[in-house]
Amino acid sequence: MVHDAITASRDRSAASPTLSPAQLERLRALGQERTARVGEVLYRVGDRAYPFIAILAGEVAIVDMAGREFLRSGPSGFLGELNLLTGQTVFVTAVVTQSLHYVAVERATMHAALFDDGPLSELVLSAFIARREMLQQLDGIGPEIVGPHASDETMQILAFARSNRIPHTWTDSQPPRGRAPLVRLPGGMELECPSAGQLARALGIGRELSLREEVDLVVVGAGPAGLGAAVYGASEGLDTMVVESTALGGQAGASRRIENYLGFPGGITGSELTSRAVMQARKFEARTATPYRAVSLKTASREHVIQLEEGHEIAARAVLIATGAEYQRLPVDRLSDYEGSSVFYAAGPPEARECPGERVAVVGGGNSAGQAAVWLAREGALVTLLHRRDDLRETMSDYLVRELGRSGVEIRDRSEIAELHGDGGKVGAVTLKSGERLPFSFLFLFLGARPCAQWLGGAVRTDEDGFVLTGAAAGAEDLLGTSVTGIFAAGDVRSGSTKRCATAVGEGAMAVQFVHEHLARLERV
Ligand SMILES: Cc1cc2nc3c(=O)[nH]c(=O)nc-3n(C[C@H](O)[C@H](O)[C@H](O)COP(=O)(O)OP(=O)(O)OC[C@H]3O[C@@H](n4cnc5c(N)ncnc54)[C@H](O)[C@@H]3O)c2cc1C
Repeated sequence: MVHDAITASRDRSAASPTLSPAQLERLRALGQERTARVGEVLYRVGDRAYPFIAILAGEVAIVDMAGREFLRSGPSGFLGELNLLTGQTVFVTAVVTQSLHYVAVERATMHAALFDDGPLSELVLSAFIARREMLQQLDGIGPEIVGPHASDETMQILAFARSNRIPHTWTDSQPPRGRAPLVRLPGGMELECPSAGQLARALGIGRELSLREEVDLVVVGAGPAGLGAAVYGASEGLDTMVVESTALGGQAGASRRIENYLGFPGGITGSELTSRAVMQARKFEARTATPYRAVSLKTASREHVIQLEEGHEIAARAVLIATGAEYQRLPVDRLSDYEGSSVFYAAGPPEARECPGERVAVVGGGNSAGQAAVWLAREGALVTLLHRRDDLRETMSDYLVRELGRSGVEIRDRSEIAELHGDGGKVGAVTLKSGERLPFSFLFLFLGARPCAQWLGGAVRTDEDGFVLTGAAAGAEDLLGTSVTGIFAAGDVRSGSTKRCATAVGEGAMAVQFVHEHLARLERV
């Protein structure tokens, strides 16, 4: 039922494009032609590896663990999802429904083909991204997370799943045994109260690091700045490693639609931009390690050492700090009771799935609040935007304010939340500082950001708000150099940054140039 409603209401063509005759010919040359009978399973939930499958004749249904069908592919169609590129666990089963003649292309060969062939890459990647979005909106796909909202560990695992765009189902109750959360993986394995790292490894996300790694450049943080540096660093021959504590893509990955990124006149979703950037980083063989949190930085004249939470260390001749900034929380009691269940910091498909017909407050006056409000309204929520200034135009772009009007979003000026009301982990209403009480089932908070620079422990100089100083302000020769030679900073974590994707990417790329110059200087002494 849920599956029908969703697949009927979405633009399924994005998830089911067809290959041109020339593309099918190319794939034929790369893979093996095979046949399969009706009822045969090509891959199933819990598998790790499967080939890219292009259909020459016949038909295949994609079903969930309970056997419910939600997608069908026929001649010139192809199977696969983002996990074909990443090696993550398979979340669905592919069953032949009409006698099948197909080409199977092994994963490594397909990777190479996607890197070489722009139009094929565009077609396949767009479909994989659309399919992942579809999976995220369906119930009963991916790991089942069982744990109450009052359990911090449960909320942490949920946040990890959301930010990594892992389709999942959450059962808000105590698990039948052991410590919450219990995570049932596709394929049947169960994990009791896993760390994000344990869950990631179990799902095949990210590589495992050796206890000590040595590289030319370590980039800490894989948002647009970190990924930008990874792509430029690796493509220019630097041995580059990126460590990321949560999810590749950073804040940008959480954005519903980025309208102002050069080259995308129709806008691009954060998850698409991230998937494309990650693929590009892989193409140039930049190494990404996630989830690994940097906890300290030891500086020295020729080599700096980053210590990671789980005891690993990375020695590098140059370091790029690209750890971005973190969302501000609302200064109200019991906020944590509701975070993750009815208070969110991003408006992605899993959150929006719960909101149609519900009263929703988006809190904040910036463009990210405006984008989220428009998107949630389009998804069927009854949206009110609360912000504290006299006029929204002081902080939000004009085009977005107009878009809010067109989308039926109610705007309330001078409205700050003083108290949350609710029960069973669900918000029911809020009281404003004015004393007015408003009913809302969900809150989306977009209140600005704090720098993620505490892990540096004062190793480099920061401004009074904790943002990392660079260039002349840090006494550095290079624009992005910090107060310590060989350590650079880029993106939102940098004092005076403009907090935009494009500038973060640009700074990441620019930092690589400074790293080259620094390494050349080291060679000379
Ligand atoms: C909802 C939303 C919508 C937005 N919309 C737009 C838009 O339309 N246009 C636009 O230009 N900008 C937009 N932005 C802003 C843009 O996303 C940011 O400016 C950009 O992401 C900054 O990139 P960054 O790489 O510096 O930092 P981030 O994207 O914050 O990435 C930093 C990364 O570092 C990781 N990290 C932090 N600490 C550690 C640690 N100790 N160890 C390892 N990793 C760590 C974090 O997990 C994160 O992944 C939006 C932001 C949000 C939140």
